[in-house]
Amino acid sequence: MSIPVALVTGGTKGIGKEIARSFSKKGMRVYLNFSSDRDAAAAARRELHAETVQADVSDQEQVSAMIDAIAQKEGRLDILVNNAGIIRDGLLMLMPAKNWHRVMEVNLNSVFFCSKAALRPMVGNRWGRIINIISPSALMGRAGQTNYAAAKGGVLSFTRSLAREVARYNITVNAVSPGVIATELTRDMEDKVRREFISMIPAGRFGTPEEVARAVFFFASDEAGYITGEYLSVDGGLT
Ligand code: NAD
Repeated sequence: MSIPVALVTGGTKGIGKEIARSFSKKGMRVYLNFSSDRDAAAAARRELHAETVQADVSDQEQVSAMIDAIAQKEGRLDILVNNAGIIRDGLLMLMPAKNWHRVMEVNLNSVFFCSKAALRPMVGNRWGRIINIISPSALMGRAGQTNYAAAKGGVLSFTRSLAREVARYNITVNAVSPGVIATELTRDMEDKVRREFISMIPAGRFGTPEEVARAVFFFASDEAGYITGEYLSVDGGLT
């Protein structure tokens, strides 16, 4: 059997990097997408023995060029993880339109662009796995995150619909919803905010990127071949 080829968007740090590491450890060929931070990309490439590919995932031309180049070089693309994401939090009444649009572009439009381009090689090979990273905000809402919740909720509905379109080609489309995960983002959190968050989590602690990566790895595996259009929360009981 050929070595599986995986692409992780926003894969050079945080949760994406751990997902990529879990693939790399199993001997897959891993491509880490990044948008601008070349130093982080170079460090991740060395650390994970992976390839890096530059593209702003909110730009359809850049995404098509990136995925076509991988498919041409490898002759396949088996696994796509739509992980890249941003937040631009703020109360709706004060939210500038640009913060609404940018979150939609990066968190929702990117999933359309990347999945569309990745389906060409996947349908050709009659095998594929698409895993989308969503959020508890999509499932329960969160004040100050109308833009982010709408985008991630859109990704969940997208997941369910695309799963129906492509199941016949042996391609599954699923989502993973990380709870509050210890990344750079949460490391700088004030103690008071940290305590508030932890009080809402039945498990009494933040999750780790490794715990999220395990769920993604499961959806990417052969074992999960009959599961599609689903989401799995890795959130310590939060939702
Ligand atoms: P992070 O900021 O460490 O990683 C996000 C990655 O996306 C970065 O590498 C960033 O450079 C990349 N990115 C941003 N815009 C991009 C663009 N236009 N093109 C290409 N890459 C781009 O954050 P993280 O916490 O690792 O988040 C990863 C995913 O998990 C996101 O989708 C996020 O919404 C989701 N998530 C995170 C948490 C959490 O607690 N950290 C919780 C729920 C969901």
